[in-house]
Parts: sequence; structure tokens; C-alpha cells
Amino acid sequence: MKTLRFTTLPGDGIGPEVMDIALEVLKKLGTLHGFSIETSNHDVGGIGIDNHGQALPESTLAACREVDAILFGSVGGPKWENLPPKEQPERAALLPIRKAFELFANLRPGNLYPELSDLSPLRPDTVANGIDTLCVRELTGGIYFGQPKETKTLENGEKQAIDTMVYRTSEIERITELAITAATLREGRICSVDKANVLETSVLWRDTVINCVQKHNPDIELSHMYVDNAAMQLVRDPNQFDVLLTENMFGDILSDELAVICGSLGMLASASLGTQKNSLNLPFGLYEPAGGTAPDIAGKGLANPCAQVLSAALMLRYSFGLEKEANSVENAVKETIRSGLRTGDIAQGADSVGTAEMGQAIIDRLK
Ligand code: NAD
Repeated sequence: MKTLRFTTLPGDGIGPEVMDIALEVLKKLGTLHGFSIETSNHDVGGIGIDNHGQALPESTLAACREVDAILFGSVGGPKWENLPPKEQPERAALLPIRKAFELFANLRPGNLYPELSDLSPLRPDTVANGIDTLCVRELTGGIYFGQPKETKTLENGEKQAIDTMVYRTSEIERITELAITAATLREGRICSVDKANVLETSVLWRDTVINCVQKHNPDIELSHMYVDNAAMQLVRDPNQFDVLLTENMFGDILSDELAVICGSLGMLASASLGTQKNSLNLPFGLYEPAGGTAPDIAGKGLANPCAQVLSAALMLRYSFGLEKEANSVENAVKETIRSGLRTGDIAQGADSVGTAEMGQAIIDRLK
């Protein structure tokens, strides 16, 4: 029997509540599909600070190095918000973990089920059939990391700040290869976003994407769009996109736009994939919900577990190569929503259920 080895880092707030559900889902799925899971639970974020004096304790990092993937909850909350910015749980846990595992690719599915289309701020006729798109964002290059990055005072006393946008071919190739893999599992269409009419990095980006698709899978339907147009087109008709491929800063903005369009943070998963291959020769990855620790509802059993469960599905797909099993989880969530069950965040004033009931309904629908 195949054994899936991963760490769980539930973090703070609703993190542990929704992580429990995701684990229950994986355990039940294993009995249906013939695999077992071997997990260990570790502190990260605020609870890491409380128990070990560090948002990312050495012991947590060491445990993550021993496995094939990380299932992450979320970190932070009011208890730690007066710490200096560098020690804040989000910054002190997530940035170092991304660095430690060279997580260069962020995959954010933009999914809105037709049954929840009222949650979207877009026109009802635009989202009547829901939304299904995937944003693939480069995560470790571009203007956020390029050097020089500085503020200096000029001779005339005026201040000047510089950020540098820099990309190398190899950085563009590896994210494009990943987008190709993702698109191949979907409709086979990639729209690459750039600003090639203005930026040198975008000219290189576009040329490299074209060459890479030609080399690895010429059957991919590749198109290109300037980022300003992409921001408009996402609002006008998000379903024109199958896979949106973007550099770091453009992806930061467009993936948040996509999240808002999809209505609720409680439904959105994400995957960050690394340069390293795991023991199965698949990408090592960190999988987490798009939302935070939701301090307003933490500890009340009210959190929507779907985003965490869907993050586990992404882990099955990308780090364990279990596409059928990932689909089974995604379909169970879809069926649960179709059945009319809602947690408070997606109920729009109608009757709602708690985390446990929602989780059980998903488990009951696993095939
Ligand atoms: P948040 O995502 O935690 O909450 C925003 C709103 O969405 C809240 O009303 C919350 O109740 C709701 N929400 C989010 N996830 C939900 C779920 N699964 N079910 C039901 N409702 C859900 O964002 P925030 O309030 O800006 O941040 C709270 C804390 O989380 C802060 O400390 C912040 O730093 C942290 N945070 C962490 C991450 C991360 O770990 N990756 C991401 C974002 C925010």
C-alpha cells in the first residue's frame, strides 16, 4: 500500500480546526483508494513563538525536510500583532519556509461553483456558470527581490528609491514548465501575462514562454496578454482563461483580483511548489488555504473547512501525482455545496452549519 508522507503545520486561529477536517478527509480517501498517510504535526506561526520562541522553529523545519510535502494552515492573530514587523508570524514563518524550500511557483485556483455565484461581485450573467481558472505566479523573482533595491538621498536633498525588476531565462523556463504541466491536466490553454510593450523583462518573459511551450508541449494553446488588459478581462469574462501564467508582481495583484471575483476566502486553496523534487520525483510543495486565521470566528467551530480540504487535494495532485484522488476530493466538496450545505461565510444570511458538519458531509461524499 502506498504511504503519503507529509507534515501538517496547522498554525493559529482556525488553522487547527480546518486541518483536522482535511486529515479526516485524507484518511477516509485512503481507505477508498488504497493508500495510507504518515503525518507529523508541528508548531508554526504564533504558536511557534509561544512554544519555541520562533515563528518557524528549527524542529519544524527539520521535520519538513524529511517528507514529500507540507500541508499548512495559516498563521498570525491579535495576540502577536504588536511584535516588530520582522517577528510577525506571517513574515517570520512563511518567508523563511518559502526560502528554505525554494518555493518558486504559486498556483491559485480561481474556483466559483455555480451554486455560489451570488457571492461574486461580478454581474450575475458573467458568473452564472461559475468560474474555473488557475493562476500560476512566479514567486521568487522579479521586482520584489531584484537588486539594487534602495532609497538614497540625492545631492539636491531629494530622496530617490529604486526597485529592480530582473528575470533570468532559467527562472522563466521553470515556471513555464510548471504551467504547462498544470494546463495539461486542464483544458490545455495558457495565457501568459506580461507588459512586453514597455518592459525588457517582459520581452524576455514572452520569448522564453514561447520557446518553452514549443519545446515541451506544442499542443498547448498559448496566448499573450498585457497585464493591464488582463486585469480588465478578468472582471469582464474570467472564464476565458484556463491557466494564467504571470511573473511575481503581476501575479500578486491578479491572483488577489481572482480571489475577490470568486467570492469567499473560505473556498480558495493554493499551492506553492519548489525547485526540489520529493522522493517520488514530483515537486516538493506547500499547500495552504488562501485566507488567514480568521480571528473573528476562531475557536467557535464555524470556519469553512473547504479551502483546507481543497489544499489537500492540490497536494495529492502535484506532490503525490494522485490526480484521480484529487478529483475525488474536489468533487466531494462540489457535491456538498450542491446539496445546499453552507458554512456562515457562504450562507448569505440563510441557515448555516459548523466546521464539523461541513467536514462530515464532504467525507460522506468521497468516492
Ligand atoms: P482572514 O483571511 O483571516 O479573514 C478575513 C475574513 O474572511 C474574516 O471575516 C474571516 O472570518 C473570513 N474567513 C477567512 N477564512 C475563512 C474560513 N476558512 N471560513 C470562514 N471564514 C473565513 O484575514 P485577516 O482578518 O486580514 O487576517 C487575520 C490574521 O490572519 C492576521 O493575523 C493575518 O496576518 C493572518 N493571515 C495569515 C495568512 C497566512 O497564514 N497565509 C494569510 C492572510 C492573513
